[in-house]
Amino acid sequence: MPIEFKRTWSDSTLESFRDSVVRFIESEVQPGDEEARRRGHVGHQVWREAGKLGLLCTDIPEEYGGAGGDFRHEAVIHEELARRGLTGMNNAVHSIVAHYLLSHGTEEQKKHYLPRLASGELVGAIAMTEPGTGSDLKGIRTRAERHADHYVINGSKTFISNGFLAGLVLVVCKTGGAEGSRGMSILLVETEGLAGYRVGRVLDKMGMKAQDTSELFFDNVTVPHDHVLGGQEGQGMYQLMQDLPYERLIIGVTGVAMMEGGFEATLQYVNERKAFGQRIADFQNTRFKLAEIATQIRVGRAFVDQCIEEMLEGTLDTATASMAKMWVSDTQNRVLDELLQLWGGYGYMNEYPIARMYADARVQRIYGGTNEIMKEVIARSLA
Ligand SMILES: Cc1cc2nc3c(=O)[nH]c(=O)nc-3n(C[C@H](O)[C@H](O)[C@H](O)COP(=O)(O)OP(=O)(O)OC[C@H]3O[C@@H](n4cnc5c(N)ncnc54)[C@H](O)[C@@H]3O)c2cc1C
Repeated sequence: MPIEFKRTWSDSTLESFRDSVVRFIESEVQPGDEEARRRGHVGHQVWREAGKLGLLCTDIPEEYGGAGGDFRHEAVIHEELARRGLTGMNNAVHSIVAHYLLSHGTEEQKKHYLPRLASGELVGAIAMTEPGTGSDLKGIRTRAERHADHYVINGSKTFISNGFLAGLVLVVCKTGGAEGSRGMSILLVETEGLAGYRVGRVLDKMGMKAQDTSELFFDNVTVPHDHVLGGQEGQGMYQLMQDLPYERLIIGVTGVAMMEGGFEATLQYVNERKAFGQRIADFQNTRFKLAEIATQIRVGRAFVDQCIEEMLEGTLDTATASMAKMWVSDTQNRVLDELLQLWGGYGYMNEYPIARMYADARVQRIYGGTNEIMKEVIARSLA
């Protein structure tokens, strides 16, 4: 009986939900993954199909078109994609966009956008990073100038997840005359047919090949005044800070799930592959490595499960979520490296999931705030 990674927060209803998520992934996402990796995006159809089945915005209230569930439903979807190494459909960013709207949007903004995100009609993206600045968000240069009846946006963004497919981009801009964080706002930009808006390259990444990470350009793009998230200028930094625990926990959830998926695939492989007349699984080195890795995954699972419970109670703070993001992503990178080693040369071949997971895992230490920034955040909370 292989080791079972139990979740403290699941129950039979959630496990039935998990079955339907797995059916969707195995019938709609997995078969198209090779093609999506070649193309650099998963296409719109899979998003619409997920929407039709109620698998987008699962933790958004039904009155706004969501499924009326909670973070556990989201976790189930993130887990089942990550454990299979299917990273093309960035449902995490899509859900984060929905949460910005839910937490900070005006009633009109919620009613206008959330049902369309939930149906998959719009794919969501959040555009903070620019060629000249990432960690130091206050250094952004994209500016939205307020004119008599609209804003005019000029600037460029890079590394934007879902950037190619996005129908709604939350653009973090400088507005007004205030310096620093008080001069930042989030503008809701609907992209279809928008004059002056251009999607650049789908960027060639070392991993996450099926995911459309893109450059975005804004050249005198106009949006109405009521497209400021929450209706009031200068709230951007505050809004971004509020939702950090949600984003960082998702990285923790996917990290643990990918380790679990990689571990199970490796266990099967070392039991089948032979060298020197015995199974790879029988070498003491393999047994000890797997023992160490299983322990690390259990520790990660316990911490992430506790964070999920706190998220459900509304008590998860930014420092704890940052610890989960940092510890899990660091551990994920180490664990996948050690698992890959047990596959020998096959571990280096992209046709095996362990190679893809290894490459995909690397960015978990970089996006969502780098792990160095996580240390700053955690250290500040200790002062
Ligand atoms: C695949 C992928 C998807 C992404 N998706 C999105 C997205 O959807 N939306 C979006 O806006 N951005 C996205 N990003 C951007 C990502 O969030 C940034 O790359 C990240 O925040 C780091 O910014 P940077 O690349 O400019 O690095 P820099 O900020 O230039 O950092 C370079 C190095 O310096 C370190 N450093 C910086 N400041 C400090 C400090 N104070 N103390 C110690 N060390 C420091 C960093 O940790 C890093 O190691 C994505 C990136 C990738 C690769």
